[in-house]
Amino acid sequence: MKDLTHYIGGAHQKGTSGRTSDVYNPATGEVQAQCPLASAEELNRAVEIAAEAQPAWAATNPQRRARVMMEFVRLLNRDMDKLAEALSSEHGKTFPDAKGDVQRGLEVVEYCIGAPQLLKGEFTDGAGPGIDMYSMKQALGVCAGITPFNFPAMIPMWMFAPALACGNAFILKPSERDPSVPLMLAELMEEAGLPKGLLQVVNGDKEAVDAILDHPVIQSVGFVGSTPIAEYIYGRGCSNGKRVQCFGGAKNHMIIMPDADLDQAADALIGAGYGAAGERCMAISVAVPVGDETADRLIEKLVPRIEKLKVGPYTAGDDVDYGPVVTAAAKEKILGLVQTGIDQGAELVVDGRDFSLQGYEDGFFVGPHLFDKVTPDMDIYTQEIFGPVLTTVRAASYEEAISLAMDHEYGNGTAIYTRDGDAARDFANRINIGMVGINVPIPVPLAYHTFGGWKKSMFGDLNQHGPDAFKFYTRTKTVTSRWPSGIKEGGEFNFKAMD
Ligand code: NAD
Repeated sequence: MKDLTHYIGGAHQKGTSGRTSDVYNPATGEVQAQCPLASAEELNRAVEIAAEAQPAWAATNPQRRARVMMEFVRLLNRDMDKLAEALSSEHGKTFPDAKGDVQRGLEVVEYCIGAPQLLKGEFTDGAGPGIDMYSMKQALGVCAGITPFNFPAMIPMWMFAPALACGNAFILKPSERDPSVPLMLAELMEEAGLPKGLLQVVNGDKEAVDAILDHPVIQSVGFVGSTPIAEYIYGRGCSNGKRVQCFGGAKNHMIIMPDADLDQAADALIGAGYGAAGERCMAISVAVPVGDETADRLIEKLVPRIEKLKVGPYTAGDDVDYGPVVTAAAKEKILGLVQTGIDQGAELVVDGRDFSLQGYEDGFFVGPHLFDKVTPDMDIYTQEIFGPVLTTVRAASYEEAISLAMDHEYGNGTAIYTRDGDAARDFANRINIGMVGINVPIPVPLAYHTFGGWKKSMFGDLNQHGPDAFKFYTRTKTVTSRWPSGIKEGGEFNFKAMD
Protein backbone atom coordinates (compact mmCIF):
# COMPACT_ATOMS: atom_id res chain seq x y z
CA MET A 1 0.00 0.00 0.00
CA LYS A 2 1.48 3.33 -1.11
CA ASP A 3 0.91 6.57 0.73
CA LEU A 4 0.68 9.24 -1.93
CA THR A 5 1.60 12.85 -1.28
CA HIS A 6 1.03 16.38 -2.48
CA TYR A 7 3.75 18.15 -4.47
CA ILE A 8 4.19 21.55 -2.87
CA GLY A 9 7.15 23.92 -3.00
CA GLY A 10 9.22 21.53 -5.11
CA ALA A 11 8.92 18.53 -2.80
CA HIS A 12 6.60 15.65 -1.99
CA GLN A 13 4.62 16.60 1.10
CA LYS A 14 2.61 14.22 3.24
CA GLY A 15 -1.01 15.18 3.77
CA THR A 16 -1.75 16.80 7.13
CA SER A 17 -5.54 16.89 7.08
CA GLY A 18 -5.92 13.33 8.31
CA ARG A 19 -8.31 12.62 5.43
CA THR A 20 -7.46 10.24 2.57
CA SER A 21 -9.26 8.37 -0.19
CA ASP A 22 -8.65 4.93 -1.67
CA VAL A 23 -6.92 4.55 -5.02
CA TYR A 24 -7.80 1.21 -6.62
CA ASN A 25 -6.24 -1.12 -9.08
CA PRO A 26 -9.45 -1.41 -11.11
CA ALA A 27 -8.34 -4.71 -12.67
CA THR A 28 -8.14 -6.51 -9.33
CA GLY A 29 -10.44 -4.35 -7.22
CA GLU A 30 -7.67 -3.95 -4.63
CA VAL A 31 -6.84 -0.70 -2.91
CA GLN A 32 -3.25 0.05 -3.94
CA ALA A 33 -2.70 3.52 -2.47
CA GLN A 34 -4.07 6.22 -0.25
CA CYS A 35 -4.48 9.70 -1.69
CA PRO A 36 -4.27 12.57 0.78
CA LEU A 37 -7.22 14.98 0.70
CA ALA A 38 -5.98 18.50 1.33
CA SER A 39 -7.40 20.92 3.83
CA ALA A 40 -7.88 24.60 2.95
CA GLU A 41 -4.66 25.33 4.93
CA GLU A 42 -2.62 23.02 2.71
CA LEU A 43 -4.05 24.68 -0.40
CA ASN A 44 -3.38 28.14 1.05
CA ARG A 45 0.25 27.22 1.66
CA ALA A 46 0.65 26.19 -1.99
CA VAL A 47 -0.88 29.48 -3.12
CA GLU A 48 1.58 31.46 -0.96
CA ILE A 49 4.52 29.59 -2.49
CA ALA A 50 3.14 30.02 -6.02
CA ALA A 51 2.58 33.75 -5.54
CA GLU A 52 6.17 34.17 -4.38
CA ALA A 53 7.68 32.23 -7.28
CA GLN A 54 5.53 33.60 -10.11
CA PRO A 55 6.84 37.17 -10.71
CA ALA A 56 10.40 36.03 -11.48
CA TRP A 57 9.04 33.36 -13.86
CA ALA A 58 6.85 35.92 -15.65
CA ALA A 59 9.94 38.12 -15.99
CA THR A 60 11.93 35.26 -17.54
CA ASN A 61 11.94 35.76 -21.28
CA PRO A 62 9.47 33.53 -23.15
CA GLN A 63 12.19 31.78 -25.10
CA ARG A 64 13.75 30.51 -21.89
CA ARG A 65 10.35 29.37 -20.65
CA ALA A 66 9.88 27.57 -23.97
CA ARG A 67 13.20 25.76 -23.49
CA VAL A 68 11.82 24.23 -20.28
CA MET A 69 8.90 22.93 -22.35
CA MET A 70 11.33 21.51 -24.94
CA GLU A 71 13.21 19.59 -22.28
CA PHE A 72 9.93 18.44 -20.72
CA VAL A 73 8.94 16.90 -24.08
CA ARG A 74 12.21 14.98 -24.11
CA LEU A 75 11.62 13.71 -20.58
CA LEU A 76 8.03 12.67 -21.38
CA ASN A 77 9.35 10.58 -24.25
CA ARG A 78 12.12 9.16 -22.04
CA ASP A 79 9.59 8.14 -19.35
CA MET A 80 6.68 7.26 -21.63
CA ASP A 81 6.46 3.61 -20.56
CA LYS A 82 6.81 4.42 -16.87
CA LEU A 83 4.06 7.04 -17.06
CA ALA A 84 1.77 4.77 -19.08
CA GLU A 85 2.27 1.91 -16.62
CA ALA A 86 1.36 4.09 -13.62
CA LEU A 87 -1.60 5.46 -15.55
CA SER A 88 -2.98 2.04 -16.56
CA SER A 89 -2.58 0.63 -13.09
CA GLU A 90 -4.76 3.34 -11.49
CA HIS A 91 -7.16 4.09 -14.34
CA GLY A 92 -7.48 0.64 -15.89
CA LYS A 93 -7.11 1.66 -19.55
CA THR A 94 -4.94 -0.44 -21.85
CA PHE A 95 -1.22 0.26 -22.11
CA PRO A 96 -1.34 1.63 -25.73
CA ASP A 97 -4.30 3.81 -24.74
CA ALA A 98 -2.39 5.11 -21.70
CA LYS A 99 0.50 6.05 -23.98
CA GLY A 100 -2.01 7.91 -26.16
CA ASP A 101 -3.15 9.80 -23.06
CA VAL A 102 0.43 10.99 -22.45
CA GLN A 103 1.02 11.64 -26.15
CA ARG A 104 -2.01 13.92 -26.65
CA GLY A 105 -0.83 15.99 -23.65
CA LEU A 106 2.74 16.05 -24.98
CA GLU A 107 1.49 17.51 -28.26
CA VAL A 108 0.05 20.49 -26.38
CA VAL A 109 3.41 20.97 -24.66
CA GLU A 110 5.01 20.99 -28.13
CA TYR A 111 2.57 23.69 -29.21
CA CYS A 112 3.53 25.73 -26.13
CA ILE A 113 7.15 25.77 -27.29
CA GLY A 114 5.82 28.43 -29.66
CA ALA A 115 5.20 30.77 -26.68
CA PRO A 116 7.58 33.51 -27.89
CA GLN A 117 5.59 33.81 -31.10
CA LEU A 118 2.20 33.26 -29.49
CA LEU A 119 2.78 35.91 -26.82
CA LYS A 120 3.80 38.69 -29.18
CA GLY A 121 1.58 41.72 -28.77
CA GLU A 122 0.23 44.31 -31.21
CA PHE A 123 1.64 47.70 -32.15
CA THR A 124 0.26 50.70 -34.02
CA ASP A 125 2.86 53.17 -35.06
CA GLY A 126 1.52 56.72 -35.22
CA ALA A 127 -2.00 56.25 -33.85
CA GLY A 128 -2.03 60.05 -33.62
CA PRO A 129 0.57 62.81 -33.80
CA GLY A 130 3.50 61.45 -31.79
CA ILE A 131 1.22 58.71 -30.41
CA ASP A 132 1.91 54.98 -30.48
CA MET A 133 -0.39 52.29 -29.19
CA TYR A 134 0.59 48.80 -28.18
CA SER A 135 -0.95 45.78 -26.49
CA MET A 136 0.87 43.31 -24.29
CA LYS A 137 -0.22 39.87 -23.13
CA GLN A 138 0.70 39.55 -19.48
CA ALA A 139 0.51 36.53 -17.21
CA LEU A 140 -2.45 36.32 -14.82
CA GLY A 141 -0.44 35.27 -11.75
CA VAL A 142 -1.52 32.12 -9.90
CA CYS A 143 -3.82 29.82 -11.88
CA ALA A 144 -5.50 26.56 -10.84
CA GLY A 145 -6.91 23.51 -12.59
CA ILE A 146 -9.24 20.73 -11.47
CA THR A 147 -9.12 17.62 -13.62
CA PRO A 148 -11.10 14.38 -14.11
CA PHE A 149 -10.02 10.77 -13.72
CA ASN A 150 -10.38 9.74 -17.34
CA PHE A 151 -7.30 11.49 -18.81
CA PRO A 152 -4.91 11.90 -15.87
CA ALA A 153 -1.94 12.86 -18.10
CA MET A 154 -3.47 14.68 -21.07
CA ILE A 155 -5.90 17.04 -19.36
CA PRO A 156 -3.48 18.32 -16.68
CA MET A 157 -0.96 19.03 -19.48
CA TRP A 158 -3.65 20.80 -21.54
CA MET A 159 -3.90 23.22 -18.63
CA PHE A 160 -0.51 23.60 -17.01
CA ALA A 161 1.61 23.71 -20.18
CA PRO A 162 0.01 26.88 -21.64
CA ALA A 163 -0.44 28.42 -18.18
CA LEU A 164 3.28 28.04 -17.41
CA ALA A 165 4.41 29.00 -20.92
CA CYS A 166 2.51 32.27 -20.45
CA GLY A 167 4.44 33.00 -17.24
CA ASN A 168 1.92 31.90 -14.61
CA ALA A 169 2.25 29.63 -11.60
CA PHE A 170 -0.13 26.67 -11.66
CA ILE A 171 -1.79 24.63 -8.92
CA LEU A 172 -3.26 21.34 -10.10
CA LYS A 173 -5.98 19.51 -8.19
CA PRO A 174 -6.16 16.20 -10.08
CA SER A 175 -8.73 13.47 -9.67
CA GLU A 176 -8.29 11.67 -6.37
CA ARG A 177 -8.99 8.40 -8.21
CA ASP A 178 -5.72 8.36 -10.20
CA PRO A 179 -3.32 10.98 -8.79
CA SER A 180 0.08 9.30 -9.40
CA VAL A 181 0.71 10.48 -12.96
CA PRO A 182 0.03 14.18 -12.16
CA LEU A 183 2.60 13.92 -9.34
CA MET A 184 5.12 12.39 -11.76
CA LEU A 185 4.48 15.18 -14.27
CA ALA A 186 5.21 17.86 -11.67
CA GLU A 187 8.53 16.15 -10.84
CA LEU A 188 9.41 15.95 -14.54
CA MET A 189 8.67 19.64 -15.10
CA GLU A 190 11.18 20.50 -12.40
CA GLU A 191 13.71 18.11 -13.83
CA ALA A 192 13.18 19.99 -17.11
CA GLY A 193 14.23 23.22 -15.41
CA LEU A 194 11.02 24.73 -14.04
CA PRO A 195 11.83 26.62 -10.84
CA LYS A 196 10.26 25.22 -7.68
CA GLY A 197 6.81 26.36 -6.61
CA LEU A 198 5.53 27.07 -10.12
CA LEU A 199 3.78 23.75 -10.68
CA GLN A 200 2.29 22.23 -7.56
CA VAL A 201 -0.09 19.33 -7.11
CA VAL A 202 -2.58 19.55 -4.28
CA ASN A 203 -4.61 16.38 -4.02
CA GLY A 204 -8.09 16.51 -2.64
CA ASP A 205 -11.83 16.62 -3.02
CA LYS A 206 -14.54 19.26 -2.61
CA GLU A 207 -12.73 20.88 0.34
CA ALA A 208 -9.63 21.65 -1.75
CA VAL A 209 -11.78 22.69 -4.73
CA ASP A 210 -13.81 25.13 -2.62
CA ALA A 211 -10.58 26.56 -1.17
CA ILE A 212 -9.38 27.17 -4.76
CA LEU A 213 -12.66 28.79 -5.76
CA ASP A 214 -12.64 31.15 -2.78
CA HIS A 215 -8.95 32.05 -2.68
CA PRO A 216 -8.53 35.72 -3.61
CA VAL A 217 -5.02 35.26 -5.05
CA ILE A 218 -6.02 32.59 -7.57
CA GLN A 219 -6.87 34.38 -10.81
CA SER A 220 -8.23 31.62 -13.00
CA VAL A 221 -9.75 28.17 -12.69
CA GLY A 222 -9.88 25.53 -15.40
CA PHE A 223 -12.15 22.55 -14.83
CA VAL A 224 -12.87 19.35 -16.72
CA GLY A 225 -15.34 16.78 -15.36
CA SER A 226 -19.05 16.11 -15.06
CA THR A 227 -21.63 18.77 -15.89
CA PRO A 228 -23.17 19.30 -12.43
CA ILE A 229 -19.72 20.00 -10.94
CA ALA A 230 -18.74 22.12 -13.98
CA GLU A 231 -21.83 24.27 -13.44
CA TYR A 232 -21.11 24.62 -9.73
CA ILE A 233 -17.47 25.57 -10.25
CA TYR A 234 -18.32 28.04 -13.00
CA GLY A 235 -20.92 29.79 -10.83
CA ARG A 236 -18.84 29.99 -7.67
CA GLY A 237 -15.58 30.85 -9.43
CA CYS A 238 -17.16 33.60 -11.56
CA SER A 239 -18.99 35.13 -8.63
CA ASN A 240 -15.63 35.35 -6.89
CA GLY A 241 -14.33 37.37 -9.85
CA LYS A 242 -12.13 34.69 -11.39
CA ARG A 243 -11.66 33.82 -15.01
CA VAL A 244 -13.22 30.35 -15.32
CA GLN A 245 -13.56 27.74 -18.07
CA CYS A 246 -15.41 24.50 -17.31
CA PHE A 247 -15.83 21.51 -19.61
CA GLY A 248 -18.59 19.04 -18.74
CA GLY A 249 -20.21 15.78 -19.75
CA ALA A 250 -21.29 14.51 -23.13
CA LYS A 251 -23.67 12.35 -25.11
CA ASN A 252 -22.12 12.12 -28.54
CA HIS A 253 -24.29 11.04 -31.47
CA MET A 254 -23.04 9.41 -34.66
CA ILE A 255 -25.42 9.70 -37.59
CA ILE A 256 -25.16 6.91 -40.11
CA MET A 257 -26.71 7.80 -43.46
CA PRO A 258 -28.10 5.09 -45.77
CA ASP A 259 -25.24 5.70 -48.24
CA ALA A 260 -22.47 5.28 -45.63
CA ASP A 261 -19.85 2.57 -45.88
CA LEU A 262 -21.40 0.46 -43.12
CA ASP A 263 -18.30 -1.63 -42.48
CA GLN A 264 -16.34 1.54 -41.92
CA ALA A 265 -19.12 2.96 -39.72
CA ALA A 266 -19.37 -0.24 -37.67
CA ASP A 267 -15.60 -0.37 -37.12
CA ALA A 268 -15.64 3.26 -36.08
CA LEU A 269 -18.50 2.69 -33.64
CA ILE A 270 -16.68 -0.18 -31.98
CA GLY A 271 -13.58 1.93 -31.25
CA ALA A 272 -15.50 5.07 -30.36
CA GLY A 273 -18.16 3.35 -28.28
CA TYR A 274 -16.16 0.75 -26.37
CA GLY A 275 -12.57 2.08 -26.37
CA ALA A 276 -11.38 3.00 -22.86
CA ALA A 277 -14.54 1.19 -21.62
CA GLY A 278 -16.58 4.13 -22.89
CA GLU A 279 -14.95 6.43 -20.34
CA ARG A 280 -14.11 9.20 -22.81
CA CYS A 281 -15.92 12.50 -23.08
CA MET A 282 -15.63 12.12 -26.86
CA ALA A 283 -16.88 8.51 -26.89
CA ILE A 284 -19.79 7.85 -29.21
CA SER A 285 -22.64 6.66 -27.01
CA VAL A 286 -25.56 7.08 -29.42
CA ALA A 287 -25.67 5.59 -32.92
CA VAL A 288 -28.39 7.12 -35.10
CA PRO A 289 -28.90 5.06 -38.26
CA VAL A 290 -31.19 6.76 -40.76
CA GLY A 291 -33.91 4.41 -41.97
CA ASP A 292 -34.83 0.95 -40.66
CA GLU A 293 -32.87 -0.82 -43.38
CA THR A 294 -29.68 1.04 -42.41
CA ALA A 295 -30.38 0.25 -38.76
CA ASP A 296 -30.92 -3.47 -39.36
CA ARG A 297 -27.77 -3.74 -41.47
CA LEU A 298 -25.74 -1.77 -38.94
CA ILE A 299 -26.84 -3.91 -35.99
CA GLU A 300 -26.03 -7.01 -38.03
CA LYS A 301 -22.49 -5.73 -38.54
CA LEU A 302 -22.03 -4.53 -34.96
CA VAL A 303 -23.01 -7.69 -33.10
CA PRO A 304 -20.18 -10.00 -34.29
CA ARG A 305 -17.65 -7.20 -33.81
CA ILE A 306 -18.85 -6.66 -30.23
CA GLU A 307 -18.76 -10.35 -29.49
CA LYS A 308 -15.10 -10.41 -30.55
CA LEU A 309 -14.04 -7.62 -28.18
CA LYS A 310 -11.29 -8.63 -25.80
CA VAL A 311 -11.86 -7.19 -22.33
CA GLY A 312 -9.04 -7.57 -19.83
CA PRO A 313 -6.39 -6.04 -17.61
CA TYR A 314 -3.71 -3.86 -19.21
CA THR A 315 -1.15 -6.47 -18.22
CA ALA A 316 -2.73 -9.03 -20.57
CA GLY A 317 -1.05 -7.55 -23.67
CA ASP A 318 -1.56 -4.97 -26.35
CA ASP A 319 -4.41 -6.83 -28.03
CA VAL A 320 -6.79 -6.09 -25.13
CA ASP A 321 -9.52 -3.78 -26.49
CA TYR A 322 -10.57 -2.24 -23.22
CA GLY A 323 -10.07 -2.64 -19.50
CA PRO A 324 -12.13 -2.24 -16.36
CA VAL A 325 -14.03 0.91 -15.40
CA VAL A 326 -12.46 3.06 -12.73
CA THR A 327 -14.31 2.09 -9.53
CA ALA A 328 -16.93 -0.30 -8.19
CA ALA A 329 -19.28 2.69 -7.90
CA ALA A 330 -18.84 3.46 -11.61
CA LYS A 331 -19.62 -0.16 -12.47
CA GLU A 332 -22.72 -0.11 -10.31
CA LYS A 333 -23.95 3.12 -11.91
CA ILE A 334 -23.47 1.73 -15.42
CA LEU A 335 -25.27 -1.54 -14.66
CA GLY A 336 -28.05 0.42 -12.94
CA LEU A 337 -28.58 2.46 -16.10
CA VAL A 338 -28.56 -0.70 -18.22
CA GLN A 339 -31.39 -2.00 -16.04
CA THR A 340 -33.40 1.20 -16.58
CA GLY A 341 -32.94 0.72 -20.33
CA ILE A 342 -34.46 -2.76 -20.11
CA ASP A 343 -37.25 -1.57 -17.79
CA GLN A 344 -38.11 1.35 -20.05
CA GLY A 345 -38.47 -0.88 -23.10
CA ALA A 346 -35.21 -0.65 -25.07
CA GLU A 347 -34.03 -3.81 -26.80
CA LEU A 348 -30.80 -5.19 -25.29
CA VAL A 349 -29.16 -6.82 -28.31
CA VAL A 350 -25.81 -7.58 -26.64
CA ASP A 351 -25.99 -8.19 -22.90
CA GLY A 352 -22.73 -7.75 -21.00
CA ARG A 353 -24.19 -7.95 -17.51
CA ASP A 354 -22.84 -11.38 -16.65
CA PHE A 355 -19.32 -10.66 -17.83
CA SER A 356 -16.67 -12.09 -15.55
CA LEU A 357 -12.97 -12.64 -16.06
CA GLN A 358 -11.25 -15.63 -14.56
CA GLY A 359 -8.69 -14.54 -11.98
CA TYR A 360 -10.11 -11.00 -11.94
CA GLU A 361 -13.54 -11.63 -10.45
CA ASP A 362 -13.17 -8.65 -8.11
CA GLY A 363 -12.06 -6.25 -10.86
CA PHE A 364 -14.42 -3.55 -12.13
CA PHE A 365 -14.96 -5.07 -15.57
CA VAL A 366 -18.15 -4.40 -17.47
CA GLY A 367 -18.96 -6.45 -20.55
CA PRO A 368 -19.99 -4.65 -23.75
CA HIS A 369 -23.67 -3.78 -24.17
CA LEU A 370 -25.63 -2.80 -27.26
CA PHE A 371 -29.14 -1.37 -27.11
CA ASP A 372 -31.45 -0.97 -30.09
CA LYS A 373 -34.79 0.89 -30.35
CA VAL A 374 -33.86 3.44 -27.71
CA THR A 375 -36.17 6.47 -27.54
CA PRO A 376 -35.33 10.03 -26.41
CA ASP A 377 -37.38 9.78 -23.21
CA MET A 378 -35.32 6.89 -21.77
CA ASP A 379 -32.71 7.44 -19.04
CA ILE A 380 -30.07 5.65 -21.14
CA TYR A 381 -30.59 8.39 -23.73
CA THR A 382 -30.86 11.47 -21.53
CA GLN A 383 -28.02 10.57 -19.13
CA GLU A 384 -24.32 10.13 -19.70
CA ILE A 385 -23.58 6.43 -19.01
CA PHE A 386 -19.77 6.66 -19.26
CA GLY A 387 -19.36 2.93 -19.76
CA PRO A 388 -19.17 0.32 -22.56
CA VAL A 389 -22.82 0.73 -23.53
CA LEU A 390 -23.74 1.78 -27.05
CA THR A 391 -27.33 2.86 -27.63
CA THR A 392 -29.09 2.96 -31.00
CA VAL A 393 -31.86 5.44 -31.76
CA ARG A 394 -33.46 4.80 -35.13
CA ALA A 395 -34.33 7.92 -37.13
CA ALA A 396 -36.72 7.95 -40.08
CA SER A 397 -34.92 10.78 -41.90
CA TYR A 398 -31.81 12.92 -41.90
CA GLU A 399 -33.87 15.80 -40.44
CA GLU A 400 -34.99 13.63 -37.53
CA ALA A 401 -31.41 12.48 -36.93
CA ILE A 402 -29.93 15.97 -36.86
CA SER A 403 -32.78 17.20 -34.62
CA LEU A 404 -32.02 14.45 -32.10
CA ALA A 405 -28.42 15.57 -31.76
CA MET A 406 -29.41 19.24 -31.69
CA ASP A 407 -32.11 18.81 -29.06
CA HIS A 408 -29.88 16.88 -26.64
CA GLU A 409 -28.68 19.00 -23.73
CA TYR A 410 -25.04 18.03 -24.27
CA GLY A 411 -23.03 19.30 -27.22
CA ASN A 412 -19.48 18.02 -26.97
CA GLY A 413 -18.80 16.00 -30.12
CA THR A 414 -20.70 14.37 -32.96
CA ALA A 415 -20.06 12.59 -36.25
CA ILE A 416 -21.78 11.80 -39.52
CA TYR A 417 -21.01 8.83 -41.75
CA THR A 418 -21.99 9.40 -45.35
CA ARG A 419 -20.64 9.48 -48.91
CA ASP A 420 -22.68 12.57 -49.68
CA GLY A 421 -20.73 15.83 -49.45
CA ASP A 422 -23.87 17.93 -49.43
CA ALA A 423 -25.33 16.13 -46.39
CA ALA A 424 -21.98 16.31 -44.58
CA ARG A 425 -21.65 20.01 -45.32
CA ASP A 426 -25.18 20.78 -44.17
CA PHE A 427 -24.58 18.78 -40.98
CA ALA A 428 -21.32 20.58 -40.17
CA ASN A 429 -22.93 23.98 -40.72
CA ARG A 430 -26.18 23.50 -38.83
CA ILE A 431 -25.24 21.33 -35.87
CA ASN A 432 -25.05 23.11 -32.47
CA ILE A 433 -22.16 20.98 -31.21
CA GLY A 434 -18.54 22.04 -30.71
CA MET A 435 -16.56 19.26 -32.42
CA VAL A 436 -17.76 17.55 -35.59
CA GLY A 437 -16.41 14.50 -37.40
CA ILE A 438 -17.17 13.72 -41.04
CA ASN A 439 -16.46 10.02 -41.41
CA VAL A 440 -14.27 10.48 -38.31
CA PRO A 441 -15.77 9.04 -35.13
CA ILE A 442 -13.83 10.88 -32.41
CA PRO A 443 -13.03 14.34 -33.78
CA VAL A 444 -10.66 15.50 -31.03
CA PRO A 445 -8.92 18.58 -32.46
CA LEU A 446 -5.13 18.55 -32.58
CA ALA A 447 -3.06 20.70 -30.22
CA TYR A 448 -2.88 23.71 -32.55
CA HIS A 449 -6.67 23.91 -32.85
CA THR A 450 -8.92 24.28 -29.83
CA PHE A 451 -11.03 21.76 -27.92
CA GLY A 452 -14.45 22.52 -26.51
CA GLY A 453 -18.10 21.56 -26.59
CA TRP A 454 -21.26 23.65 -26.64
CA LYS A 455 -24.46 23.69 -24.56
CA LYS A 456 -24.16 21.81 -21.22
CA SER A 457 -20.74 20.46 -22.22
CA MET A 458 -18.99 23.81 -21.74
CA PHE A 459 -19.31 26.83 -19.47
CA GLY A 460 -17.18 29.81 -20.41
CA ASP A 461 -16.01 31.33 -23.64
CA LEU A 462 -12.50 30.18 -24.49
CA ASN A 463 -11.67 26.62 -25.48
CA GLN A 464 -8.81 24.46 -24.28
CA HIS A 465 -5.37 24.42 -25.93
CA GLY A 466 -4.44 26.01 -29.25
CA PRO A 467 -4.62 29.80 -29.56
CA ASP A 468 -7.51 30.07 -27.04
CA ALA A 469 -5.29 28.79 -24.22
CA PHE A 470 -2.88 31.68 -24.73
CA LYS A 471 -5.84 34.06 -24.44
CA PHE A 472 -7.22 32.33 -21.36
CA TYR A 473 -3.91 32.39 -19.51
CA THR A 474 -3.01 36.01 -20.27
CA ARG A 475 -4.52 39.41 -19.77
CA THR A 476 -4.28 42.10 -22.42
CA LYS A 477 -2.95 45.50 -21.47
CA THR A 478 -3.05 48.29 -24.03
CA VAL A 479 -0.71 51.24 -23.74
CA THR A 480 -1.19 54.58 -25.49
CA SER A 481 1.98 56.64 -25.39
CA ARG A 482 2.81 60.14 -26.49
CA TRP A 483 6.31 61.54 -26.51
CA PRO A 484 6.35 65.34 -26.95
CA SER A 485 9.20 66.55 -29.13
CA GLY A 486 12.34 66.90 -27.12
CA ILE A 487 16.03 66.56 -27.52
CA LYS A 488 15.98 65.69 -31.23
CA GLU A 489 14.88 69.29 -32.04
CA GLY A 490 18.36 70.35 -30.96
CA GLY A 491 20.08 70.57 -27.63
CA GLU A 492 20.43 73.73 -25.67
CA PHE A 493 24.04 74.45 -24.95
CA ASN A 494 23.90 77.77 -23.15
CA PHE A 495 23.85 77.81 -19.41
CA LYS A 496 20.52 79.41 -18.55
CA ALA A 497 19.76 81.11 -15.33
CA MET A 498 16.45 80.09 -13.80
CA ASP A 499 13.84 82.81 -14.21
P1 NAD B 1 -16.12 14.53 -11.68
O1 NAD B 1 -16.97 15.71 -12.01
O2 NAD B 1 -16.64 13.53 -10.71
O3 NAD B 1 -14.70 15.03 -11.08
C1 NAD B 1 -13.91 15.98 -11.74
C2 NAD B 1 -13.11 16.74 -10.71
O4 NAD B 1 -14.00 17.44 -9.85
C3 NAD B 1 -12.24 15.86 -9.83
O5 NAD B 1 -11.00 16.49 -9.64
C4 NAD B 1 -13.04 15.77 -8.54
O6 NAD B 1 -12.21 15.63 -7.40
C5 NAD B 1 -13.74 17.10 -8.48
N1 NAD B 1 -15.04 17.01 -7.78
C6 NAD B 1 -15.86 15.94 -7.70
N2 NAD B 1 -16.95 16.23 -6.97
C7 NAD B 1 -16.82 17.51 -6.58
C8 NAD B 1 -17.64 18.39 -5.79
N3 NAD B 1 -18.81 17.99 -5.29
N4 NAD B 1 -17.21 19.64 -5.60
C9 NAD B 1 -16.04 20.06 -6.11
N5 NAD B 1 -15.22 19.27 -6.84
C10 NAD B 1 -15.61 18.01 -7.09
O7 NAD B 1 -15.74 13.85 -13.08
P2 NAD B 1 -14.96 12.49 -13.32
O8 NAD B 1 -15.85 11.35 -12.95
O9 NAD B 1 -13.59 12.54 -12.74
O10 NAD B 1 -14.77 12.52 -14.91
C11 NAD B 1 -15.74 12.08 -15.80
C12 NAD B 1 -16.59 13.22 -16.34
O11 NAD B 1 -15.74 14.20 -16.96
C13 NAD B 1 -17.56 12.80 -17.41
O12 NAD B 1 -18.78 13.49 -17.22
C14 NAD B 1 -16.89 13.24 -18.70
O13 NAD B 1 -17.77 13.47 -19.79
C15 NAD B 1 -16.25 14.51 -18.25
N6 NAD B 1 -15.16 14.89 -19.13
C16 NAD B 1 -15.34 15.97 -19.94
C17 NAD B 1 -14.34 16.37 -20.80
C18 NAD B 1 -14.52 17.56 -21.69
O14 NAD B 1 -13.53 18.06 -22.20
N7 NAD B 1 -15.73 18.04 -21.89
C19 NAD B 1 -13.13 15.66 -20.82
C20 NAD B 1 -12.96 14.57 -19.97
C21 NAD B 1 -13.99 14.21 -19.13
